Amino acid sequence: MILEQTGKICDRLYVAGHNVMPAFLLATDRPVIFDAGVAAIGPRYLKDIGTYLGSGRSPEYLLITHSHYDHCGAVSFLKEKIPGLRIGANAHVAKVMRKPNAVELIRALNRNFAEVFRDVIGDEDIPFNPVEIDLLLKEGDELDCGGGWKVRVIETPGHTRDSMSYYIPKIKAAIVGEAAGVFHNESINPQFSSSYIDYIASLEKLASLDIDILALGHRHILTGGDTVGYLKGSIEATVAFKRHIEDCLDRFGGDREKTVQTILDESYDRNIVMQQDLQSFLLNLRAQIKVVAEGK
Ligand SMILES: [Zn+2]
Repeated sequence: MILEQTGKICDRLYVAGHNVMPAFLLATDRPVIFDAGVAAIGPRYLKDIGTYLGSGRSPEYLLITHSHYDHCGAVSFLKEKIPGLRIGANAHVAKVMRKPNAVELIRALNRNFAEVFRDVIGDEDIPFNPVEIDLLLKEGDELDCGGGWKVRVIETPGHTRDSMSYYIPKIKAAIVGEAAGVFHNESINPQFSSSYIDYIASLEKLASLDIDILALGHRHILTGGDTVGYLKGSIEATVAFKRHIEDCLDRFGGDREKTVQTILDESYDRNIVMQQDLQSFLLNLRAQIKVVAEGK
């Protein structure tokens, strides 16, 4: 089954905020938020999380899948509003939070998103600010969430070098950010912005897990048999997209900008509500073409 709404996914697991830019909530004794979406949706995440948890309960952890603006955008807002919230992420995310240029880019992309989608999300001005990462997570780490619930950390680099997935054994759920691509209009868009080699290895690692619920970074949650088919399809789509970039680069004598323009014209649809904005689409596309051109 493919789910696209906010609300309950299964026992204890919820989608908060907006399905396109979701934060997930594991409502265990020690509740966990996964990802913090974009800054502008911060108040909606907070409201939904409060509703799902009920009064007197508060999230203990916020785990970030990677350092892109649309996955850590509301982290400072949530940290400020939820006393004692501990932020967990890859050590590289902590470095990104200390780099003025990276922080400025995350801030600018969040501001841009808020302006482009003002009609959908409202016009409250929520800034992005860097935060300290309290828990530096790595492969195999496990968080005890109470009552026999655990979250296991799985390093899945390739989309970014700091991409992490989080696996919840009790419900066989994996929260993967963009490590498994983006599912959109019945097709899978690969997202190997830092390394094709790592991205394929990460997909194979995810495909080897026993997954009943696959929570993608945007729009969709797959359940049951659809998860296996999706991950297999994601590997195939990734191989095909790399080949397409190679063909374009060949055709244009290695000209990366002509390759960017060709793929942009083929694949960017300006008419979809809450489609990734053009600036970040281009950032990702240029990164993927660079990865292929340089054999990373
Ligand atoms: Zn991303």
